[in-house]
Parts: sequence; structure tokens; C-alpha cells
Amino acid sequence: MPGALVLKRFAPAIMEWQKIHGRHGLPWQANKDPYRVWLSEVMLQQTQVATVIPYFEKFTQHFPSVSALAKAHLDEVLGLWSGLGYYSRARNLHQCAQVVVRDWAGQFPTSAQDLQQLPGIGRSTASAIAATCFGQRVTILDGNAKRVLARYLGFEGNIVLPAHEKILWDFAEKMVPEAGMQTMPVYTQALMDLGSAICTVKNPQCMQCPVQNSCSAYAQDKTKSLPLKQKTIKRTSHRLYLWWVNNSMGQVFWLQRPMKGVWAGLYCLPVWEASSEAEFLAQIPCQWHSKCEFLDPVQHVLTHKDFQLIFVKTRLTEANLQDWPNTLEGKWLNHNEWQSLGVPAPVRKIMVQLGANSLI
Ligand code: SF4
Repeated sequence: MPGALVLKRFAPAIMEWQKIHGRHGLPWQANKDPYRVWLSEVMLQQTQVATVIPYFEKFTQHFPSVSALAKAHLDEVLGLWSGLGYYSRARNLHQCAQVVVRDWAGQFPTSAQDLQQLPGIGRSTASAIAATCFGQRVTILDGNAKRVLARYLGFEGNIVLPAHEKILWDFAEKMVPEAGMQTMPVYTQALMDLGSAICTVKNPQCMQCPVQNSCSAYAQDKTKSLPLKQKTIKRTSHRLYLWWVNNSMGQVFWLQRPMKGVWAGLYCLPVWEASSEAEFLAQIPCQWHSKCEFLDPVQHVLTHKDFQLIFVKTRLTEANLQDWPNTLEGKWLNHNEWQSLGVPAPVRKIMVQLGANSLI
């Protein structure tokens, strides 16, 4: 295990490096506003900075404060989030804003411990906000930071296991510099920047790394094998039929998804999971069967799930609109209307590609 000197050298070296080589001038770095820092942290989870910037700017223009976000309708929030993926983040964001307004008089709490109690804020995000905005001496440990520290320390534990992850957290805490607004924001940003620019998943740039001299993985030629992440994820496959119905005015029929399960809370075409065309057809009235056109399947891959999306196009005429199943409580929307809603990214993409309002 690494000695005290190795732990102590880390923070000053990466902070010096950050001042010259790190990222400056990102839109959420302009001030230490916890609302903007929180928003950026949530958006940056599993998403690259370049992708996040336009979303962040659009979001903060619409919702310049936590109270503005709290007052918004969830559909509006999901609409602005549309395309960023992992929609539970947007739902938590909205819920969190409402809790901050209701329980904290619209001011984010200043300690990582209190921040972590808010919806959607985990330990690393809470630390990022507390360290950046309030100078608290706490460490982040997101995916990038875990990789950097596991390599630097030569940590051979399987970081997917909670017990091993906890050991890494303990080391990470020992490596944090003195608390304060002069150090904590710089250190936190340095750890993020090092992970995204130098100590990358593949081909880390060790020759440009400010801590190469003390890095255990570099010294032992283990940069490829660390960190150890052995997952036993069971993948599942699903075939979804999406009923894409146009009426004679070129509108498309949309339903809001239930608040749980795939695409929770988003607007989508009516969807059924079915193993065959016949099983799908059994879900809709038989007078529509001859009007269904089955498009080629589209693959959509998530972390643990493989989806096969089959769009089924149907055109309604004035005459057969009266047979429309009144059990479906949805909305007929034109192109501009549904474009502003939170719609699953693959559904949006396919419909835009194929022309959502085109009639068959
Ligand atoms: S020397 Fe290489 S492996 Fe070690 S922290 Fe730096 S970039 Fe990562």
C-alpha cells in the first residue's frame, strides 16, 4: 500500500498542472453558484463536456434559478433534457429543486452531508458541490477519479465491489489538501480534468501526467489492467413494437409513459413488448390489422438491455378515426408540438429520419 509521501504529493502536483493545463472558462465555472454547479454535475454524469454545454446553456436560460426550475412542469424539464439520456437524472433534478425550495428556502445546503440527502445527489456529486462552492474538505470519487486514484495508488481491488470501493474512498479522503476556497475548487477540478484529459480509459498520456513520478501503475506497467472492474451483469433482450399512427391532419398519436420502467415519464408512441407481429396485433382492434405497416427493426443498446424497436405505421382517415380505441388516453400532436416534449432519443431520431408527419 502507498506510503504517506505518495499520498501527500498528489494534490499539489495536480493542482499546479490544473492551473496551466486544466479546463477554465466552462459555463458553470463563471461563479461558484451551487445551482449551476449542481446542474453541471448532474448533466456531466455519463455525458461528455462538449455534449453538456449547449444543454446547460439552454437549461439555465429557461430556468435561471433553482426556484424557476422548481416551479416548472416536469414535461418542460424533460423536453429540455431530451437527447441527454438517463432521464431519471432530469426527474431527480426537478424533484431536488422542489425540495431545496420547500425545505431549504431556495438555498442549497453547504455541507456534503446535507447535500447528499437531496434527491439524485450521491456522495461524489455532493462533495463536488460542497468543495467547489463552499471550500469544504471533501473528495469527489466519480468514475474518472476512481480510475486515476486506482492507478496512482496501484489499488488492485475490484472497484465494483462496495467493500473495495470504500477502501478507495478512504484513500481519496486522505489525499485531499487543506480546506478552503483557494484549494478545494482547484483540486476538485484538477481531479476531474486529469481523468478526462490525461489518465483516460484507453491509452493514458502518462508522459504528460503531473504525477507520473509517483504513479504505481506506471512504475509497474499496470496502466492497462487497473482499475479492476469485474461486473457480472446479466443482459436482457426486449422486442418493442411502437405504434406510429398519423391522422389525416398529419398529427401523430402520443402517450405519456408510466413513471416507472423504460423511458419513464417521457412521451412516446404507444408501445408494447411482444415476441411477434401476431402478439403485437392482438393488442389493437382487428379492423386496424390490415392498415399496419411493419418497418425494419432498429437496434437500441442500453447498459444492461438490448432493445429491438419495431415501428408499425398506420394512417387513419377521417372515416376510420371513429374506430380509434378510446382506451388509449393520449394526445394528437403535430411535429412542432411533440418536438418540444421529452421523447426517448431513439424514437425521436428514427421519426425525424423517416419523417414523422409523412403519411403512408
Ligand atoms: S502516470 Fe499514467 S496511469 Fe498514472 S496517473 Fe498518470 S496518466 Fe494515470
